[in-house]
Order: sequence, then C-alpha cells, then structure tokens
Amino acid sequence: MAKENIQRQDIIKEVKFTIAEDAFEGPFRCCNQLTKKTRKQAHYKGLSFSYEVWRCSKCGEDYLDTQQAKKLEGFWTAQKAFDTFLVEIREK
Ligand SMILES: [Zn+2]
Repeated sequence: MAKENIQRQDIIKEVKFTIAEDAFEGPFRCCNQLTKKTRKQAHYKGLSFSYEVWRCSKCGEDYLDTQQAKKLEGFWTAQKAFDTFLVEIREK
C-alpha cells in the first residue's frame, strides 16, 4: 500500500513544476519576462498524455495555471489507478 502514501507534493517535486499557492491564471512572470504556452507530452507505461504548461524561455521553468494543474492531476490519478491495477494483478 506504499503507493497510497505518495503525497501530491512528492509528485509535484518529481516532475519539477512550480504551482503557485493561490488560484491564478497564466501567463506568469519569471526572470523579468512573461512565460509562453508550451505543449508537452508525458509518457507512462504505454500511456501518453499531452498537456500545456507556461514555460520561461530564459530558465526553462514550467508553470501550471489552475486548469493545467487540474488536467495533469487527472493524468496522475490515471497513473495511480493503473499502477494499483497492475499491482493487484501481480499479487493474485
Ligand atoms: Zn525564468
């Protein structure tokens, strides 16, 4: 059941996103300039997921607005469900 203990914070750290504390909308300000919308792909065990982030072209930091974060959370939920499902199959 270790998978259940993965905290949202850990996952966010792992994929190196910056999510602001308050509700917000892009574009964001980073390195004295505005971030630009960039499309990214995530691949996980044969699943692929396309999503958008706001990226700083200077330092490469990615930012998520509220909507983007929600979409990505959906993907993480699917990932987690997928892992749980596989673990259950292996245990039987
Ligand atoms: Zn920056």
